[in-house]
Amino acid sequence: MITYSNSKINTFQQCTKKYQFQYIDKVETDVENTIEAFMGDLVHRTLEKLYKDLQFMTLNSKEELVKYYDEMWESEYSSAILIVKEYGPEKYKEKGQKMIEEYYDKYTPFDDGKTIGLETTDFFNLDKDYQIHVRIDRLVDMGEGVYEIHDYKTNSSLKTQKEADEDRQLAIYCMGVKEKYPDAKKIVLVWHYLAFNKEIRSTRTDEQLEELRKKILEDIKRIESETEYSPRKGPLCDYCAYKKICPAWKHLFESIDTSEDFGRKLVDRYALLKSKEEFLNKKLNEVTEKIKLYSEKKKVTTLYGDKTCVNIWSKDAVKVPGKNDPNRAEFIKQIKNLNLFEVYSDLDTWAFEKDFEKLSAIEQQALNRYVTKKRIERLYLNKTSL
Ligand code: SF4
Repeated sequence: MITYSNSKINTFQQCTKKYQFQYIDKVETDVENTIEAFMGDLVHRTLEKLYKDLQFMTLNSKEELVKYYDEMWESEYSSAILIVKEYGPEKYKEKGQKMIEEYYDKYTPFDDGKTIGLETTDFFNLDKDYQIHVRIDRLVDMGEGVYEIHDYKTNSSLKTQKEADEDRQLAIYCMGVKEKYPDAKKIVLVWHYLAFNKEIRSTRTDEQLEELRKKILEDIKRIESETEYSPRKGPLCDYCAYKKICPAWKHLFESIDTSEDFGRKLVDRYALLKSKEEFLNKKLNEVTEKIKLYSEKKKVTTLYGDKTCVNIWSKDAVKVPGKNDPNRAEFIKQIKNLNLFEVYSDLDTWAFEKDFEKLSAIEQQALNRYVTKKRIERLYLNKTSL
């Protein structure tokens, strides 16, 4: 049985290169963790302690929990933890403390149902070959066949209700709970956005879960058929442990201290030439327009310089409605009515535009309102040979 997890699938969808580093090559880096993940883990472990002790009829005070969190921070924090934003570790530590305190105040005396699972390590069989990890922060039996899956989020962005209704992670857990507890009549998904002291809830129908199961198997097929693991640069790169060895960033780190690097010089040269190219293109367009006007005024098709001449080629052309043009469907209908669709199979627009003038007058008349006409002009520079 092959095991996947929601985060493994997420990683592939975020960046296939990162997936390769993490899950195929299992590359070790000197980055231990990000500060966000470190703080999130300690908050999770503190809330786990809260509910574990409650299972033994022991209610920790708020101060005891914060102390527990602080002690873990002091013993586990290391300089190998990656900090991307401008805030120091103390700010993150305080942020975690505040989350624990606000959660404590909001849910005291913690009597919402019976906790039957903490940081679970179950699996759900997607089919006979694949299983998926079900790691629930807190599973609650509310009685009468109602179960709640609680998930703590410590990140700084809040899901919308729509995003919660489409979320894959907790829906996977829902499939796992449904299989494990056949008496489940209703399963509620609950996200605790601790940084906002806010809770979001959602549910799934059996049909939605079945659709999701099939979709995950399709995603897995896509993952397993991948052969090219390309980097996908984006804002999450700053939090990626593989940034220093990633082909999309490696050169930056290798050349950061040396302005003599050949690659750097090439890029700077390229940028300079590109900026000149833009300027020259602008100037070239201006002169081209002037040549066209002047040759038109003079009624000539070639203008001569000292050693070179410019031939001006022009032709009236038509343009058919493009893929996003609202007239496109009506235009294709007309083409079919005129039995031209076969000729321009599947509407070969290039061939059609080229042949438009060769169509009969009736055909042209029927199609005239859909096409736009414009004059194409091209300039060719040649040596003057007199
Ligand atoms: S640094 Fe960015 S592009 Fe490179 S592996 Fe990580 S996420 Fe992908």
